[in-house]
Amino acid sequence: MSASVTVRVPAKVNVQLAVGAARPDGFHDLANVFLAVSLYDEVTATACDSLTVTCEGRDADQVPLDRTNLAARAAQMLAARAGLAPSVHLHIAKNIPVAGGMAGGSADGAAALLACDALWGLDTPVEDLLPLCAELGSDVPFSLVGGAALGTGRGEILTPVAAGPFHWVFAVADGGLSTPAVFREFDRLAEGREIPVPQASPALLAALASGDPDALAATLANDLQPAALSLRPSLADTLAAGTDAGALAALVSGSGPTTAFLVRDPEAASKVAAALEASATCRSTHTATSPALGARVLS
Ligand code: ATP
Repeated sequence: MSASVTVRVPAKVNVQLAVGAARPDGFHDLANVFLAVSLYDEVTATACDSLTVTCEGRDADQVPLDRTNLAARAAQMLAARAGLAPSVHLHIAKNIPVAGGMAGGSADGAAALLACDALWGLDTPVEDLLPLCAELGSDVPFSLVGGAALGTGRGEILTPVAAGPFHWVFAVADGGLSTPAVFREFDRLAEGREIPVPQASPALLAALASGDPDALAATLANDLQPAALSLRPSLADTLAAGTDAGALAALVSGSGPTTAFLVRDPEAASKVAAALEASATCRSTHTATSPALGARVLS
């Protein structure tokens, strides 16, 4: 058992996000193709008298430090399962935009689960951690495993898929968007329309496996994009600024408001990022590659 454990965990982008009609329980069936990208949070778990959370990073003031923090909830859940007290300090070094559609909270939940598991010497197999992840939130299982995967159900039932290497630029918006609010807007826009059963696109999965950025650019799809644009019309300017600068494709990441730009290579990434920064249509940019590994113990 060590005194302190740090886990690095990636953000995600959905290269396909197909949304079905609202179910009677209010959730939507999804066909989600998740891709982990090299933009990371780090969560450090240290033995402590009680459960405490601290956070550093530009968005730190938007992260709850009480027991509603997904990292704290993960620690409580794992401790209860193991019959332990959740006596741990969790420090989050936050790089993933908050309420940005990149599963930052989910990432911290998965990272805390793995960090506490190592800190407490539990050695829980991944297949036993995954149900705890699914209980924490629909995107948490993917944050644990990373790589590329198809998520069905609420997004939490994962099947790994093949993915070649791709280059990305992410434009971070000022202020977040609430995921439930974006789904409500999706429902409002869908009223009176027949919504097809969500299905993964075979063309997109083939493009992802091939590593061909032109093929992937032609197949990217996010059914939440019209809802995110309806709530935040200025995102259209960000999308246009990236494609004008040579991005192969642009889309809203998950429920937004972060926007994602697929580019051909690292040179194109630098050029598109510089143009987005100069356009004043976003707060900041990150360049990243995919697929990235899932949550990993660093120390
Ligand atoms: P997703 O892409 O999974 O829909 P998101 O990336 O849009 O999520 P998050 O960054 O996960 O959004 O944050 C959503 C809300 O969750 C925040 O506004 C915050 O109140 C709460 N939250 C709880 N724990 C965390 C955490 N560790 N980091 C960030 N937000 C957290």
